[in-house]
Amino acid sequence: MHDAVNFIRKFPLTAWIFIGIILGVLSGMFVGESIIPIASVFGDLFLRLLKMIIVPLIVTSITSGVLGIGNSKNLGRLGLKTLAYYIASSLIAILTGLILVNLIRPGFGTDIAFSGNVNAADLSSGSLKDLLYRIIPVNPLSSMVNSEILPIIFFCIIVGIFISKLNDKHRLLLTDIFNAGFDVMMNITHFIILFAPLGVFGLVAKITATTGVEIFRSLGLYFITVLIGLLWHYSVNLPFLVIVLAKENPVRHLKNMGAALLTAFTTSSSSATLPLTMECAEKNAGISNKISSFVLPLGATVNMDGTALYECVAAMFIAQVYGIELNFAAQFTVVITALLASIGAAGIPMAGLVMMSIVLKAVGLPLEGIGLILAVDRILDMIRTSTNVWSDSCGALIIAKSEKELNTNSK
Ligand code: ASP
Repeated sequence: MHDAVNFIRKFPLTAWIFIGIILGVLSGMFVGESIIPIASVFGDLFLRLLKMIIVPLIVTSITSGVLGIGNSKNLGRLGLKTLAYYIASSLIAILTGLILVNLIRPGFGTDIAFSGNVNAADLSSGSLKDLLYRIIPVNPLSSMVNSEILPIIFFCIIVGIFISKLNDKHRLLLTDIFNAGFDVMMNITHFIILFAPLGVFGLVAKITATTGVEIFRSLGLYFITVLIGLLWHYSVNLPFLVIVLAKENPVRHLKNMGAALLTAFTTSSSSATLPLTMECAEKNAGISNKISSFVLPLGATVNMDGTALYECVAAMFIAQVYGIELNFAAQFTVVITALLASIGAAGIPMAGLVMMSIVLKAVGLPLEGIGLILAVDRILDMIRTSTNVWSDSCGALIIAKSEKELNTNSK
């Protein structure tokens, strides 16, 4: 037993997660559907553990993050920087997608049969007004019960701001309580993520056994366009921002964030990955808790570069397939609505697909178009989620550097 523990400790968590992915793909391919029952248990248990911790982690981390920032002048500055980064990086992602989809024209001349019937009513849940309404909770407790992250974040920021305006006695008491609560949640998180390799194995085995590698073959060109866009954003745009704005080595940052990025890839959920993202950012990348606890939870729901890029490419692809030419004004609308859709998308699997209806409605494209892209959405979701988390972590690094909150002596 002792030997086994020592053997496990010999390799970093990232290596074990990687092994989990490879074993998952192999067993999904070779064992086939009979792996699903056992794989589901591993995957589901891991996801349940992560979901269990998300709401308490966000509540304590945002509130103590806001309290840690101190006076409201600092909060305003940090808030503006964070927002500027989110919007700029998402717009760069969308423009990358727009250029590629216009160059490659994946839907041009394609003759794709509908791969499924999409229930438009299910998918049309997000108008622009709804998006804004969803930020302010009618009842913060019900938002917590239902894991609605945006209203929780909004409420906790307000609570944090008003705690920092209290007299010293009460302010210090509440600050202590939130900081202590946050410590507990982080410790629980450290414990949960030790199980990541097992969870990842289960999730990957299940996907491979259910959809097979077949999924890669259909809708090839569309898939490739989104893929190239995401990879470009991942490996060129974001590293460029890290080099220029933070003057840090993006490869080292990538290595530091490895466990979180791989978990994002396999869980397809920025929110579920959040505990790990914060752990890697603080422990490996040396980003202070003050910055990471403000930038990352907000980013996990609001900053989704991969999703934004995909919304734009998918809408343009659907237009091309239906033979609808989108002029400059319409493409501009696609860009803006793709940005809003990515902001509104929850950090959960396939949330981006649900938000597609906003973009399609805005330029008058048929909602059934979503049926075209369903088949490959699961795999693209994995890559865009990892891109989303990568962008959050680059933002945290850049902002930490500019606020002198980066400990460059860490790994
Ligand atoms: N799954 C993505 C995320 O959690 C959202 C999406 O569907 O694009 O970041």
